[in-house]
Amino acid sequence: MSAALRISLIYLLLASAWIWLSDAFAHLLPIPAEWAADVQTLKGQLFVVLTGLLLFWLIRKEERRQRELRTELRQTRARLEHFVDVSPAVIYVFEVQDAHPRLRLSYLSANIERLTGFSATHFFQHPSTAADRLHPDDQARVRAHLRRAASEGTELSLQYRWLHRDGRYRWIEDRATLNRNPLTGKTELVGNWRDISQAKQDELLLQAAEERWRFAIDGSEIGLWDWNVPDNTVFFSTRWKTMLGHDESEIGNELSEWSSRIHPDDLPAVQADVQTLLNTPEAQYSNEHRVRCKNGNYIWILDRGKVVERNDRGEAVRVIGTHTDLSTLKQREAALDLHAGMFMNSLEGILICGPDQRIESVNNTFTDITGYTAEEAIGHPPSFLSSGRHDADFYRQMWQQITQTGRWQGEIWNRRKSGEVYIEWLTINVDHAPDGSVRHYYAIFSDISERKANEEKIRHISQHDTLTNLPNQSVLRDRLGLALAHAQRTQKPLAVLFMDLDRFKIINDSLGPTAADALLVEVAHRLTQTVRHQDTVSRQGGDEFTLLLPEVDAADAAHVAQKLLKCFADPFFVSGQQLVVTPSIGIAVYPADGHEVDTLLQASDMAMYRAKSDGGNTFRFHTADMHQRVSKTLRLENDLRKALRQGELLLHFQPQVSFTSGRVVGCEALVRWQHPESGLMPPAEFIPVAEDSGLIVPIGEWVLYTATRQCRDWQLAGLQDLVMAVNVSTVQFRQEDFAQTVKHALTAANLPPRFLEIEITESVMADNPERAIRTIRQLHDLGVQLSIDDFGTGYSSFSYLKRFKIHKLKIDQSFVRDLNTDSNSASISQAIISMAHSLELSVIAEGVETPEQAHWLATHQCDEAQGYLYARPLPADQFEAWLTSPTSTAAMLQPGR
Ligand code: C2E
Ligand code: MG
Ligand code: MG
Repeated sequence: MSAALRISLIYLLLASAWIWLSDAFAHLLPIPAEWAADVQTLKGQLFVVLTGLLLFWLIRKEERRQRELRTELRQTRARLEHFVDVSPAVIYVFEVQDAHPRLRLSYLSANIERLTGFSATHFFQHPSTAADRLHPDDQARVRAHLRRAASEGTELSLQYRWLHRDGRYRWIEDRATLNRNPLTGKTELVGNWRDISQAKQDELLLQAAEERWRFAIDGSEIGLWDWNVPDNTVFFSTRWKTMLGHDESEIGNELSEWSSRIHPDDLPAVQADVQTLLNTPEAQYSNEHRVRCKNGNYIWILDRGKVVERNDRGEAVRVIGTHTDLSTLKQREAALDLHAGMFMNSLEGILICGPDQRIESVNNTFTDITGYTAEEAIGHPPSFLSSGRHDADFYRQMWQQITQTGRWQGEIWNRRKSGEVYIEWLTINVDHAPDGSVRHYYAIFSDISERKANEEKIRHISQHDTLTNLPNQSVLRDRLGLALAHAQRTQKPLAVLFMDLDRFKIINDSLGPTAADALLVEVAHRLTQTVRHQDTVSRQGGDEFTLLLPEVDAADAAHVAQKLLKCFADPFFVSGQQLVVTPSIGIAVYPADGHEVDTLLQASDMAMYRAKSDGGNTFRFHTADMHQRVSKTLRLENDLRKALRQGELLLHFQPQVSFTSGRVVGCEALVRWQHPESGLMPPAEFIPVAEDSGLIVPIGEWVLYTATRQCRDWQLAGLQDLVMAVNVSTVQFRQEDFAQTVKHALTAANLPPRFLEIEITESVMADNPERAIRTIRQLHDLGVQLSIDDFGTGYSSFSYLKRFKIHKLKIDQSFVRDLNTDSNSASISQAIISMAHSLELSVIAEGVETPEQAHWLATHQCDEAQGYLYARPLPADQFEAWLTSPTSTAAMLQPGR
């Protein structure tokens, strides 16, 4: 009720009550009637005074109340404005002008300036500001919301980015409702704006963190569970479910989803562990167990967990944990275990090197085979196993192949820790990294010494005669084939000897097979002792033996056959008895008797039968012709041996004269054989036989001793001092102790060395020049002279000549003979003379027969001469006589210079 109405009503009530009550009261009073008018006036007067007083009081009271109300209102308003001002929310009112909607700002709280950087006035002056500064991406959405809120009256609640005056976007939360203004009756959108940038940023950070976390969890293949203990519910991550083969939707969030899948055998342990986790503060849980997948199979998982929240009583409220699939790991572990087992227990030795070729690991068999423990081997290069049996080239080729093909395989000799050398079969493989670099070298080997030994034994057995241990027929054939090929290539001879024991059958029958076997073993032994190591003695079975002698000609073969016959000369001791056994030997020679294995074997066989039919205990060649020839040589050889013993050899001497002095300066000793039947034999007929049979060595020694003694005898007899030239065969010269022999001869004869001249031919340096040079130096050191005989016919090298420390060259007879008829011979002789002089050697011409030759030589600076012109080779006494006769002087004087 308004104050005006109240006052008016109170006045009406009081005025009416006054009129009625005062009139009633005046009637009661004994007031004269005349006074009635006055009374009425007085009563009216009194009423005015009273009501005026009342009105005054009421209006005053009302005024005071109004004043109080205004003050209160002002205070409230000020307070409100302050609130709005400090509030983070900006209050706005838009008048909605039509359904479209068109909004007209009608109120905006002053704190808008803090939110946007613009004052409220700015918004009123530029009504489009609010819309214009919306983030382009948010504009459509905001407009749609506004339209809906304006048309349908739905509550507006949205977030968008708004461009602050400072140029940065702020997140704004906008909430508003549609109202009808009771004062104006207009529809208004009343709402507020709040800056939620910080919250938004926090939210985004949180979201990013969660995404990262989710990514990490999912990416790590780890399943996550989050257990709310009081509720008995569990959050299982997608991965947790897919790990078990389930889809996201197939597993709920009951605890039983987890426990029911654990393998019954593992469940008790898991439960115990979980219980410990729940009851123990700070505890962590970790358990490996099997869980069932959708398909019914079990997989191994690693389950780990931790209590992250406890209540006041310390009870676990929230537990978080992870599942890791261990199946691949377990499989790998199993495979690794398997491989490690295979590696360690392999029957083959295994050694693994790093790219630096140092050992990284070895297995048990490695230790068994090599004797080295893993500790001793690891870190070292495998070369400590080398046996030293392979050269650097072998290892170089091996590494070359490894580098080229990544693999090497072969047999290799290594050394055990014990020092024993053994053979192994080795395979080396290279393990490459994806970038092609070497990661490892694997060496796998097995000790094949035993196998090798067995193989060798088997090979030996298959190739040897079990009784005598001699090579058997097949080996002989192989070797003969190889020897023939070699002989053909090198143009050298070879011989096959087939031998059979005479009357062996009788021995066998009378003494029994055991004694016969023992005899054969003994025969085999003697045969191998008799021949050279490069020869093959084989047994064909029974009492037949075949010998293969490479690089042996008919004459040598006859020698060997003779030696073989001789080795049967002593009786054999078999089964306590003495046995005299003789062989028959057949000889076939390549190339004369054939070019093939079979032909030669047959030829030797036939020859053996001839030996047998000729009475045995002898040898025969395949052809009678060869037999005769060889027999003749052999006879000659035997005779020569006898001749040496019986003093049938003698020396003739031929003088050597000097062109400068015109005197005899020396003589050459030339050997002769006074053969009992054939008469005096020249050296050309027996020296080659002597050289072939080795007899040249004793013959040569006899010549040396005899010639030096003769020389000394002449000196003692008062003849002029002569130099004695002695011919030395190359065979003799090559004897290791030749210089020693010369020294002994000189000592024996007591002849000063300078009176001895050794004649050698150029052939001494053909074979082993170093040895020849050594012997020549030794002779030179002894002080004897050296000359090269038959110079110009053989092989000579200037450099050797220089190093040879030679004194003299003897121009060969063949050049001297044609000196005056053939210009070639003359030029050669001249060349020899000038070369000899330039090397400071003297020159002697041999075979000088005519005065013309002597004249030519003398005029061409030749130093000395020897030949029939002066004297033929003469026996010692005749030489002496010649030397002292005037003929010699005459001969000297003739050519002159
Ligand atoms: P040689 O050493 O070249 O000996 C020279 C040969 O020529 C000798 O033959 C000699 O008699 C012969 N002769 C000398 N002057 C003339 C001549 O004017 N005209 C012709 N046509 N010949 C002449 P001989 O004595 O028959 O010796 C032949 C070869 O036998 C020697 O050749 C020598 O190589 C070797 N010889 C001789 N005695 C020995 C010896 O004691 N030991 C060795 N190992 N070989 C010897
Ligand atoms: Mg000579
Ligand atoms: Mg000569």
